[in-house]
Amino acid sequence: MQSYDKDREKQNKKVKNSLLFAHLIVSLPQNYLKTMMSILEGRQALKAEVMKTAEVAGYLWQNGWAERNGGNITVNVTDLVDKAIKALPALTEPKPIGVELPQLRGCYFYCKGTGKRMRDLARWPMQNGAIIRILDDCAHYVIIGDEVVWPTSELPSHLSVHARLIEKGSPYRATVHTHPIELVAMSHHKPFLGKDVLTEILWSMIPETKAFCPLGLGIVPYTLPGSNELAEATLKELENYDVVMWEKHGVFAQGLDAMDAFDQIDVLSKSAKIYIAARQMGFEPEGMTQEQMAEMTRAFHLPR
Ligand SMILES: [Zn+2]
Repeated sequence: MQSYDKDREKQNKKVKNSLLFAHLIVSLPQNYLKTMMSILEGRQALKAEVMKTAEVAGYLWQNGWAERNGGNITVNVTDLVDKAIKALPALTEPKPIGVELPQLRGCYFYCKGTGKRMRDLARWPMQNGAIIRILDDCAHYVIIGDEVVWPTSELPSHLSVHARLIEKGSPYRATVHTHPIELVAMSHHKPFLGKDVLTEILWSMIPETKAFCPLGLGIVPYTLPGSNELAEATLKELENYDVVMWEKHGVFAQGLDAMDAFDQIDVLSKSAKIYIAARQMGFEPEGMTQEQMAEMTRAFHLPR
């Protein structure tokens, strides 16, 4: 009997609480409700860009390239930002980027959140990533939407790459870091790490790899993740390549958007899988000949 009374009491409390909550929502000022709306609402182009990035995050997870919170994506969305977004108040105090990047004055980025998972970002991009504004001092940023999700700890290196892209007048707007299994496995073999050794092997596995990753794969020798040395070495390699291998760690790619960066990693990964499949069958794959690859360059007007 006593427990029945207790249950009733609990139930009454629940009903009271939910009524109180309903009242609270109804009585909230309109302005507050507006701020609860996603920054993506009514902005088709910006929304499409974030949703495309979320789609890529899903592919990284499905490919087994994004265990736990592994990998990062940063997209320059400045061109998709309207006056109303520029006038939005910050959700946070200014936070130092860690580097000063004059090229990024007034730029906006969508960034994966620190500690967030790609598989979660795929479904809830604005709860696992955020849009940030670079402040006029070019050394601090604030979060403007939708929630206070602090960006990746790799933000300084990602933003340094974006600053360089702007400086060069590049159309590239996205950077992606991920851990593709077969490519990382191949980076454990020193003879593959000479300049363009891996590029030549991967290009020769299937013609499309050369066509769709026409600059090949740059190599950065093992360096501590998150270090300035890694950021600097990556910047240097990206002068000549769109995809860079971080030895025994993963790849870093730049592209027109997250999908373009992903596609380049994907074709390289496909070649790596073909190479490994051949080795598993017990033979060294022959690969396309130098003449066949030169023919590709001529036929498709490739840069190399
Ligand atoms: Zn990593």
